[in-house]
Amino acid sequence: MMMNRIFTSIRAYHNLSNSPRVCKDCDQLATKDALFDVGDGIAVIERYCDECAKTIENSNRSSV
Ligand SMILES: [Zn+2]
Repeated sequence: MMMNRIFTSIRAYHNLSNSPRVCKDCDQLATKDALFDVGDGIAVIERYCDECAKTIENSNRSSV
């Protein structure tokens, strides 16, 4: 079952050198957290690089 996700915000993510995270989309080093509201007060965080975070931000703010 697919959960309905609502984009909330992007915030800076500081990679820790001992546990580096990679972008969900392109496997570059992640620099941003993207927050999504999935309902019931639950938020999920996905990590992206600068470029992919911008794409997500722009595609979710097109109506503003
Ligand atoms: Zn990326």
